[in-house]
Amino acid sequence: MSTLRLEIVTPERKVYEEDVDMVVVKGVAGELGILPNHIPLATPLKIAPIKAKKGGKDEYVAVHGGFMEVRKDKVVILAEAAELGNDIDLIRARQAKERAERRLADKAANVDHKRAELALQRALSRISAAGGE
Ligand code: ATP
Repeated sequence: MSTLRLEIVTPERKVYEEDVDMVVVKGVAGELGILPNHIPLATPLKIAPIKAKKGGKDEYVAVHGGFMEVRKDKVVILAEAAELGNDIDLIRARQAKERAERRLADKAANVDHKRAELALQRALSRISAAGGE
């Protein structure tokens, strides 16, 4: 069976580089499953975990501020930040979630709700990628 090379890169480092069977992402227009020989495609991604299927196993990577390019048998994801499920600090992500929820509930004029909403999405994506529900 042919494979796809999946690369996930942030400004700091290469987070992931593996040959996989399938990549499932949440693009801004909806969920996409990418198999080998997919047509060329470029799309911004939602703040959500990416799933890589590899030899019957699923691996999750939390990707934040991501853009995906599919070219031949290569999927490249560029992101502001990304973490492998196993590298995620679940306690930190849960604290970030609570902080963001407190800020969203706060009606004070100096609270930046858009920023809190994005922080909440990052925290929820990390918790999900780490298997913490
Ligand atoms: P926090 O409020 O906990 O800092 P954040 O969403 O504001 O979360 P980011 O600005 O997205 O954090 O990320 C800053 C850096 O910290 C990035 O390199 C990111 O990969 C890393 N990071 C953030 N949260 C976690 C986490 N829970 N586990 C592992 N790495 C994390």
